[in-house]
Amino acid sequence: MSVYIKGGTVVSASGTQDADVLVEGEKITAVLPREPDIAISVAADRVIDATGRYVLPGGIDVHTHMEMPFGGTFSADTFETGTRAAAWGGTTTIIDFAVQAKGTSLLATLDKWHAKADGNCSIDYGFHMIVSDVNDTTLKEMDACISAGVNSFKMFMAYPGVFYATDGEILLAMQQAARSGATVMMHAENGIAIDQLVAQALAAGRTDPVDHGLTRPPELEGEATSRAITLAKVANCPLYIVHLSAAQALAAVAEARDAGQNVFAETCPQYLFLSLDDLARPDFEGSKFVCSPPLRPKEHQDSLWRGLRTNDLSVVSTDHCPFCFKDQKELGRGDFSKIPNGMPGVEHRMDLLHAGVVAGQLTLPRWVEVASATPARMFGLYPRKGVIAPGSDADIVIYDPAARQTLSAATHHMNVDYSAYEGVELTGRVATTLSRGRVVIDDGTYQGSPGHGAFLARGANQYLL
Ligand SMILES: [Zn+2]
Repeated sequence: MSVYIKGGTVVSASGTQDADVLVEGEKITAVLPREPDIAISVAADRVIDATGRYVLPGGIDVHTHMEMPFGGTFSADTFETGTRAAAWGGTTTIIDFAVQAKGTSLLATLDKWHAKADGNCSIDYGFHMIVSDVNDTTLKEMDACISAGVNSFKMFMAYPGVFYATDGEILLAMQQAARSGATVMMHAENGIAIDQLVAQALAAGRTDPVDHGLTRPPELEGEATSRAITLAKVANCPLYIVHLSAAQALAAVAEARDAGQNVFAETCPQYLFLSLDDLARPDFEGSKFVCSPPLRPKEHQDSLWRGLRTNDLSVVSTDHCPFCFKDQKELGRGDFSKIPNGMPGVEHRMDLLHAGVVAGQLTLPRWVEVASATPARMFGLYPRKGVIAPGSDADIVIYDPAARQTLSAATHHMNVDYSAYEGVELTGRVATTLSRGRVVIDDGTYQGSPGHGAFLARGANQYLL
């Protein structure tokens, strides 16, 4: 099967180009710049007219949680429903998190996550490994994970008693990662201090969703981020801060990067577009916006957009971790600490970032860089993914920058009963999504199938200084 995409504007991290793209089988075989007055004629099984549209490398969302166990329940999207929703929104690769339970092995954990995903994904996928039990066996198993294509390990300074690791455990894991050429990802919030603030709030009768935000102040994200950076410096280990939300944390990352340390960070659309005001919505509506770190006061948003422009924030992922309002978020009525942490978002990342382009916050190439090219390099997938070039996988999004859409739970494809962006109107929409040469989304219809998506064994971080 060959596909010829003609008439579009190819957008890459380095710029835009009027060019046609030829796909044969699963790969891109040619990018053909168009010259005035020179007609190109290419034979293909299918021709897609991309006139007036952008032709992008497919989005790469490096932070998702499909059917993740949390507090006795599971996030509501399976690998099947979640990857289908991703494709609708122009994302063609996800990297999800395998979650080590205390007392279990990393390799058994990886097998478990393969069993959840294999045969169910519409688009390609990889895994990071969450290390929640640091011991001699676990540390030895990190090398085996790397051989199995999992080159990034996530740890938590939050959630004492669940995922929390002490500074000593973090140091040991970072030293091992440094020896093995892996990257450590960090949830940087001071969970020990936060738990005290949570207990104080509940004791004082402050039980609403907004108190989730007020008991996790931005200073405690800034402090944990600084501490993680210091530990990584001592261990000489590359560090990637996940879901950075606060100006204080961004300042710590910027300082480390200015000093030449291999420190990187991502933020998420919810921190760019939503705020503490949403957590404060009445009638328990605020629970729809409970995630950690929490949504911040609006003034943090400008810092985050600036960080995206200056590359102190290098990636935008979603931290997609949906829980339904009914029966799941409602577990926390009367006690915000029992609200499952997480928000839906895998479907809307490309569109919301395009809204940033429309608003003048990002350039077109920077949109592609933070959403596709850098994620591919950061997590060892480049140039197979993240670029439109001969030899790369034909993961391609044809994007209509003039289309209008209104986000709503009534029309989205994620398996969750609310939208965090209900009623928000956007300019721009995916027209067509190709995954390894196969048309998955075709002008408003889903043409994919579970099992098309393949596991991606990833290599080392290609973004190191
Ligand atoms: Zn997460």
